[in-house]
Amino acid sequence: MDKIIYLDNAATTRMSKEAVDAMLPFLAEHYGNASSIYSLGTESKKAMTEVRETIARSIGAAPQEIYFTGGGSEADNWALVATAEAYADKGKHIITSKIEHHAVLHTCEYLQKRGFEITYVGVDENGILKLDELKKAIRPDTILISVMFANNEIGTIQPIKEIGEIAKERGILFHTDAVQAYCHVPINVDEYHIDMLSASAHKINGPKGIGFLYIRKGIKIRSFIHGGQQERGRRAGTENIPGIAGFGAAVDKAVASMEERMARETELRDYLIRRISEEIPYCRLNGDRAKRLPNNVNFSFRFIEGESLLIMLDMKGICASSGSACTSGSLDPSHVMLAIGLPHEIAHGSLRLTLSEENTREELDYAVDSIKEIVAKLRKMSPLYEDFVKKSK
Ligand SMILES: *Cc1c(COP(=O)(O)O)cnc(C)c1O
Repeated sequence: MDKIIYLDNAATTRMSKEAVDAMLPFLAEHYGNASSIYSLGTESKKAMTEVRETIARSIGAAPQEIYFTGGGSEADNWALVATAEAYADKGKHIITSKIEHHAVLHTCEYLQKRGFEITYVGVDENGILKLDELKKAIRPDTILISVMFANNEIGTIQPIKEIGEIAKERGILFHTDAVQAYCHVPINVDEYHIDMLSASAHKINGPKGIGFLYIRKGIKIRSFIHGGQQERGRRAGTENIPGIAGFGAAVDKAVASMEERMARETELRDYLIRRISEEIPYCRLNGDRAKRLPNNVNFSFRFIEGESLLIMLDMKGICASSGSACTSGSLDPSHVMLAIGLPHEIAHGSLRLTLSEENTREELDYAVDSIKEIVAKLRKMSPLYEDFVKKSK
């Protein structure tokens, strides 16, 4: 095969034609500033208003509760830092999980250095948050619970509704990083008692550098970028209208196709999981088998290095990942793998394959055949594997 087989849709996705087409006019002729009075500007404003409505509808929110940001990381930073500042007089304790994206974890570290206390709640061996541990962690001075909707490495979907109920009962704000879940699984902010939600366009076939933070009406949360009156004065800066237009087209398409896409991806996912578990010895599926994103597959292969596997897959035109894009490049195994209790040597041999509806069975067959061949080759070179085979004889 000489074309690229893209199995890294949790890192980013290819923009849909609809999203590209929606952006082009705003990159070219419709360049007006949305804050202007003349009609060139009002066209931009109109597009933005429509997308805000589309997005609000997609999560059961009101348009005034949607704030555009420069992506998922910014939305996470904003939700945590601004809540911490606004509610510091009530308390300085925040609860999160051990398997959050670094956009949340590193923001928590930042807040810790500024006098906030953070409790990191653990997960079980499938990556599901321990609800009893969460309940025990709550204190009178807890102001925020931030737990991701679905994990970017192992695809586990959290019991968001239960977490939302716990937070609501105790009068604590609940933020969820839904970057991996948004438009991949149905989300309703009222049903799940979500007060703040982060999402990003480039994980749903939209452009990079645009996302949103949903902030429930009535929540006092500080401005994040200071300047002009954009986003009701809470996030200043001339709006990224091309990005917003592309985001809107991506959401339109993703919402309309969600059911069908989930079914197709689930089928591909399960096929991949079945073939790998049946045909490659000494492997382990990471993440919950059932409560799982439709497009996520994550395996650990004993006796191999995930990085070597990735390099050899790349030579075969296959794009995959060993964890999150942010973790690779570092020698430490991912914090998610450690949190689900994998020993270092097994955590190192992990491979994440994240699908899109465009993937075909033929591509997956080629990928599995390649993984099989490479894993066997790498194991042949591994002294640990040699020892293991000798001992088990
Ligand atoms: C990709 C991702 C982010 C970061 O979003 P950006 O738009 O790339 O800043 C945050 N959280 C999760 C779970 C992600 O997968």
